[in-house]
Amino acid sequence: MKVAVFSTKPYDKKYLNAVLEAKHASSGIELVFHEFALNEDTVAIVEGADAICVFVNDTINDNVLSALSEFGVKAILLRCAGFNNVDLDAAQRMRIMVANVPSYSPEAVAEFAVALIQTLNRKTHRAYNRVREGNFSLDGLLGKTLCGKTVGIVGVGKIGLATARIMKGFGCRLLAYDPFPSAAFEEYGEFRSVEDLLPECDIVSLHCPLMSNTRHIINTDTLALMKPGAMLVNTSRGGLIDTEAVIHSLKENHIGGLALDVYEAEGELFYNDHSSHIIQDDLLMRLMTFPNVVVCGHQAFFTEEALTEIAECTLSNLEEFMERHTSKNSLTKDLKMRRRDSLPVRAI
Ligand code: NAD
Repeated sequence: MKVAVFSTKPYDKKYLNAVLEAKHASSGIELVFHEFALNEDTVAIVEGADAICVFVNDTINDNVLSALSEFGVKAILLRCAGFNNVDLDAAQRMRIMVANVPSYSPEAVAEFAVALIQTLNRKTHRAYNRVREGNFSLDGLLGKTLCGKTVGIVGVGKIGLATARIMKGFGCRLLAYDPFPSAAFEEYGEFRSVEDLLPECDIVSLHCPLMSNTRHIINTDTLALMKPGAMLVNTSRGGLIDTEAVIHSLKENHIGGLALDVYEAEGELFYNDHSSHIIQDDLLMRLMTFPNVVVCGHQAFFTEEALTEIAECTLSNLEEFMERHTSKNSLTKDLKMRRRDSLPVRAI
């Protein structure tokens, strides 16, 4: 079983090879690593592979899937939970299995969301730069005590729930919106509609998947509902936020801060070094001029524990596929039977 692995960084190689050697040594799996992303321009390299392994910014659309099908690729292994970059309907039609890693250390992402909340709130990103210049002034660094503040979680799945648990520990009041409210959250707070949640919250943290009905869930109208001065945090997927609308809200001094680990046009930039180039994305560059905006490059998942779990689950998915032509984490068995978070709408 030859697998073409795309968007590979040294850490992907290290963790996948370590798990392959430790747990799948006699499986016959051969990993061929490519540093570049999979898209219509690079798909030709797949020739001779039986499966491919991809990450968040690879493009697996109808055209790429047609090429994969022609090359005889039978399985697509996502090294992530989100599958908004895969045309699942087309994969189903072409009988190519797509399997994801539905859960890997949700705490890793939740802890990062909380790190962003406190960076933005206590302005440690500004303090860090300031003291290095010998400036120990506190002007402009005033934060708020989190205890007693109201935090809104949009999407209370594994990561949303872990975030709620941590914020409860700070003494915050928790509200949540989820079209599939789970009893697990009731230990921490109350469910509300989005319209009722936004005006009440000092902090809103997004943890729902990107699908056609969640794209730009934060837009001009929903931003206007947010409490003046509230902070918005997105560690889920960039497409949940309309970037132009959020820039407008920041310029109007309506929302009080924005922390992003993900960005809607991140595919062109994230995971690569562009420090010697002129970045052409004017929206991202404008965002980075605000003192109350923190942007990170999709790193919330990036812990040793999560990388180990991702490698283990990815290779188990493949071995299951080799044995049974499916996997317990297959997203393409029957589109109507997907998990409740993957509503029967086309993923985008
Ligand atoms: P999950 O499936 O456990 O939870 C998602 C929750 O969102 C579910 O409870 C679901 O009911 C809810 N939901 C569905 N539609 C919704 C809507 N319209 N409005 C509000 N909620 C809705 O997923 P998870 O493991 O908690 O991951 C959440 C997201 O985090 C993933 O979709 C992924 O995009 C993102 N993620 C980011 C990173 C990172 O490194 N930044 C890492 C892992 C996952």
